[in-house]
Amino acid sequence: MIKVNKNKCIGCGMCAGLCPEVFKIGADGKAEVIKNKSLPCVKDAAGSCPVGAISVK
Ligand code: SF4
Repeated sequence: MIKVNKNKCIGCGMCAGLCPEVFKIGADGKAEVIKNKSLPCVKDAAGSCPVGAISVK
C-alpha cells in the first residue's frame, strides 16, 4: 500500500515527476496516489521526497 501523508507533503512535485503513473498533484496542491502499483520508481519517489511524506508498506 502506497500512501502520501498530506499533512507532511509540501507539494514540490518530485514524486509526480519521478513516478507519474502512481503519483499526481491533486486539486489541493498536494500529492496523491492515483494507482497503487509497486513500480520501481515508487521507491525512488519515496527516497526523494524532501519531507518523507511517502510510505510504502
Ligand atoms: S515528493 Fe513528497 S513533498 Fe513532494 S509532492 Fe511528493 S509527497 Fe509531496
